Amino acid sequence: MSAALVLGPLHGGGLVLGYRCSSRCRHCLYACGPHRRDGEGDGPDALERVLDALARRSRGARFHIGGGEPFLELDRLERAIAGLVGRGLQLDYVETNASWVRSGEHAEQVLARLRDAGLGCLLVSVSPFHAEFVPRERTLALIAAARRTLAGGAFVWIPEFLGELGSQPAGERLDLEAVLRERGAGHARALAARYGLVPAGRAGRFLALAGELHEPEALLSRAPCRARLVDTGHFHVDLDARYVPGLCAGISLPLEEVPGAVPLARYPALAALVRGGLRALLELARERGFTPSRYSAPCDLCTCLRAHLAQAEPGGFPELGPPGFYDPRSLAVEPARR
Ligand code: SF4
Ligand code: SF4
Repeated sequence: MSAALVLGPLHGGGLVLGYRCSSRCRHCLYACGPHRRDGEGDGPDALERVLDALARRSRGARFHIGGGEPFLELDRLERAIAGLVGRGLQLDYVETNASWVRSGEHAEQVLARLRDAGLGCLLVSVSPFHAEFVPRERTLALIAAARRTLAGGAFVWIPEFLGELGSQPAGERLDLEAVLRERGAGHARALAARYGLVPAGRAGRFLALAGELHEPEALLSRAPCRARLVDTGHFHVDLDARYVPGLCAGISLPLEEVPGAVPLARYPALAALVRGGLRALLELARERGFTPSRYSAPCDLCTCLRAHLAQAEPGGFPELGPPGFYDPRSLAVEPARR
């Protein structure tokens, strides 16, 4: 691998309004949940500062807004939409899990307000993972409301799961734990494959619990690090002004340092990945007492190595963030409370 990491122009990204979420989906790459409080900025001006930075650094990029669950703070979401659009940045959609919907009428009122701020399309998350936390009728009511209210309607992701949200009574959520118990670990792995799950963050741990386990040696040469780290077509930026490259959740850089050459001397874990790949990161962690086990995928191993480093040497790896990602609660895979 080349010794440098140079990030080119930013093409497509998600503006994260915070990692707090009403749900704790087992497949969550960014390890969001109700306990997270990071990524929300240090006051009302944080959003404007990040929007100004994006306007300077990523003009021409296409954006979506997500989280966490962005509808938890409706005023902030409205300001984010108006702020992106008002700066001439391209907003493709806002992403939501539909947990906030009280009725079709309520959803329509909320969406009309956001439409007036500049929203054209809503991505509604649909899967058994989401349905474990969100009653089916809220998801369906929101899709219908978006189709009535927004020019671009609803972007349902993933539509093939619409028929698999369960047949439980209205107001109740899918008992995914019972489904997985009944159908076994093979069903969990098949679900992950059909979802196209990225095996990192909590998702990597979910797959490992489902029995997808490999020795580290079998994973070390399969890590797609360079391609993912330089990918500026699907980055994320949060309101603490952190840039998260590609799909490498749990690695972040100050937004002010991108695009351009990353000063790797400041970031030892990232430098190891860039210069020596996952094997070098494993060595770094071993030097700090890491004992390998078996992992579902290269990015799952990477997540566990980084979690060990973040705990072994707090503050020693400024690129290991946001901090809430490494909170042990974030990476734990647990059934929804019922
Ligand atoms: S996948 Fe989405 S809805 Fe689920 S915990 Fe993560 S951010 Fe929340
Ligand atoms: S192994 Fe780590 S650095 Fe490489 S692609 Fe996966 S998450 Fe990113």
